[in-house]
Amino acid sequence: MSARIELLGLTIDPLNLEQAVHQVLSWAAREDGAGCRYVVTPNVDHVVLLQQNAALRAAYETAGLILADGAPVIWASRLLGTPLPERVAGSDLVPALFEAADAKQPVSVFLLGAAPGVGDKAALAIQRRWPGVRVVGTYSPPLGFERDEAENRAILARVEAAQPDILVVGLGAPKQELWVHQHHRQIRAKAALCVGATIDFLAGEKSRAPAWMRELGLEWLHRLASEPRRLAARYARDAWVFPQLVARAWWHLPRAART
Ligand code: UDP
Repeated sequence: MSARIELLGLTIDPLNLEQAVHQVLSWAAREDGAGCRYVVTPNVDHVVLLQQNAALRAAYETAGLILADGAPVIWASRLLGTPLPERVAGSDLVPALFEAADAKQPVSVFLLGAAPGVGDKAALAIQRRWPGVRVVGTYSPPLGFERDEAENRAILARVEAAQPDILVVGLGAPKQELWVHQHHRQIRAKAALCVGATIDFLAGEKSRAPAWMRELGLEWLHRLASEPRRLAARYARDAWVFPQLVARAWWHLPRAART
């Protein structure tokens, strides 16, 4: 695997979507009992949160794969002279992984997160579209579960009973990264993917931005329009802080490297 690049205080794996799929499938094929490796997908909001949040930084440090999700992260990588090949959003990684698994390497998955009933809806859609992907469990944890030790143990027991190759974790950021980091030694799956609203997308509960918006780096605008109350303050903060982080990093580049 190519060496990680350093960008804005975090390290990122310079992989494209196909390489990321290949990596996760190779973890899923292992029989060495080597524990659960996990994937995080930093977007602008994660980069901003990471500057202040030591627990999130620790979660990133142990991640098996760190993939850039978000056009501005890719733009920043180019401006700062450490170009990443392409954006690999969790919500693109999961369907691409299922597509590859369906074609060549059947996998079992457990869907953890999203509102009650959404995981089951997603499971039906997955079985219909990718028969090579077996959904062996779904669970929507109750509000505040992460602070409840008994509930955490119960979630881990559900996963252990289902024995999935891959745990798809859709609990929102940074909750999902913190939860997976805290419990990865006890998660009985070969890989865990921290992928936000992907379970909602698979179930058809939320819609992704159209392809033209994604290509122009405008997926955030679509999300803002669909959940303005939840996202407006977050995006305003990110729009203020992220350019400053990039500008500061650019300023600290050697003079000759400032493109
Ligand atoms: N979610 C959940 N439990 C929680 C908090 C969030 O299952 O305690 C789910 C929520 O239902 C949705 C997803 O997490 O499916 C949120 O993902 P999104 O990427 O929109 O969150 P963000 O990372 O942008 O906050």
